Amino acid sequence: MDYRTLFLANIAFMTVYTAFAVLLALHNRKIKGLSLLSAGLVVALLETILQGLDGSISPLWSSLAANELYLLTFVLQMLGLRWFVTRSSLRMRWPMVCIAVMMVSYAGLYAARVAYIGNLINIPVIVLCGTTAWMLLRRGRGLYLRVSRWTTVFLLGEMAVAFYRALLTNLHYALPWAVAAARHDSRWLDSLIAGMFVSSCVVMCDLWFFVTALESELMEQARTDSLTGALNRRALRVEGAREVARTLRSGHTLCLLLLDVDHFKELNDTFGHSAGDAALQYMVQQVRGVLRTQDLLARSGGEEFTILLPETPLDRGELVAERLRLEVDSKDFIYEGTAIHLSVSVGVATLDPHCADFEALMRRADSAMYMAKRMGRNRVMAYGAEALVDDRQINIA
Ligand code: GH3
Ligand code: MG
Ligand code: MG
Repeated sequence: MDYRTLFLANIAFMTVYTAFAVLLALHNRKIKGLSLLSAGLVVALLETILQGLDGSISPLWSSLAANELYLLTFVLQMLGLRWFVTRSSLRMRWPMVCIAVMMVSYAGLYAARVAYIGNLINIPVIVLCGTTAWMLLRRGRGLYLRVSRWTTVFLLGEMAVAFYRALLTNLHYALPWAVAAARHDSRWLDSLIAGMFVSSCVVMCDLWFFVTALESELMEQARTDSLTGALNRRALRVEGAREVARTLRSGHTLCLLLLDVDHFKELNDTFGHSAGDAALQYMVQQVRGVLRTQDLLARSGGEEFTILLPETPLDRGELVAERLRLEVDSKDFIYEGTAIHLSVSVGVATLDPHCADFEALMRRADSAMYMAKRMGRNRVMAYGAEALVDDRQINIA
C-alpha cells in the first residue's frame, strides 16, 4: 500500500469514530473524560490529515504542526483516561509546563533545521504512554479494572511503536525535513500501520471507559435517593449488613443513629411540599457536615434518616447524635426568605452480643427514637437508657 492510500483509509476510519466520540461527548458533557478523549481524537485526525498531505503542503504544516499535534494527542489521551480512574483533573502544573516548553523548543529548532529534534516529540510521547499505562495499572479499580488492564496493554503497544519509530528517525532521518524521504521506506510504513492498529484499539478502549462510566452512574443512581443524594433504603440494607459483618469480624463497635424530623407534616402543610423537599436537602447538608468520611448516611423513610458510625461506641454515638440535634436546632432553615425552625429526634443503638444483626440494630434505634418522640421530641435517646424511662416520666414530659 502506498503512503497516500494508507493515509486516506486511515482518515476515513478516524473521521467515523472521531465524529461518533464527539457526538457522544456532546450528549454526555458530565463525563469530562470523554470530552478530553474526543478532543484528543479531533487533534489526532487533524494531525493525520496534515501528515497525509505531505508533499502537497508546506512541511511546516505536514511535519512541524503535525508533530506538535501528535504530542498533544497523547497529552489529551492521558488527561481523559486519568479522569475516568481518578475523577479529578491534573493539579500538578510542571508536566504541562515541560510539554509546552518541548513544543515551543521543537518549533524553534525545526525552523533552525537542527538534527535529532524529533526526539523532543518522540521521547515525551513514549513517556506519556508509559505514564498513562502506569496510572491505569495503579488506579484502575472496581468496574474500571478490566478496561484499565486492556488499555494498558494497547498503550504499551503504542509505546513500543513510538520507540521503534524514534529509533528509525534517529538512525536514518535525523534532520527534520529528511522524514519526507521515509515515505518510501517499508519499515516506516509498516510501523505506521502498526501505530494505527494499536491507536484504534485504544480508541475502542476509550469507548469502553465511557460505557463503564455510564454503568457506574446507573449503579450509583440505583443506590441513592434522588432528592437528597443520601443512600436509599435498598443500599442501606446492603451496606448495613456489610458493616455489621465487618464489625463482628474485627471485634470493633458499630453505632446506628435513627434521625426523624419533628412535626414534618406540619411544615409541609404550612409552607408547602417544595419547602418540605428543600428542608430534607438542607437536613442532609447539615448531617453531612458533622459526619466523618467513613460514616454512612441513608434516607430510610420520608423524613427519616439512618446513620451508621463504624468503630464507634455507644457514648460516642450519643455525642454525635447530640451534635447533629444541636446543629439543626441552633439555626433556622431559610426557605425563600422565610425562616423555618427544624428539630430532630434521634434514637441511638449499638451492636452487642444480644443484637448481632442489622435488622435488630434498626429495631433498637427505632424504639429509642420512638421514645425520644414520646419524651417531647428534639432530643437524643439511646437504646437501653430508653428502658429506664417509665410512663410516669413520659407523662411529666
Ligand atoms: P413526628 O414529629 O411524630 O415525626 O411527626 P411528623 O409530622 O414528622 O411525622 P408524620 O409521619 O406524621 O409525617 C411525615 C410527613 O413527611 C408526611 C409526609 O407527607 C412527609 N413526607 C414524606 N416524604 C416526603 C418528601 O419526600 N417530601 C416532602 N415534602 N414531604 C415528605
Ligand atoms: Mg417526623
Ligand atoms: Mg417519620
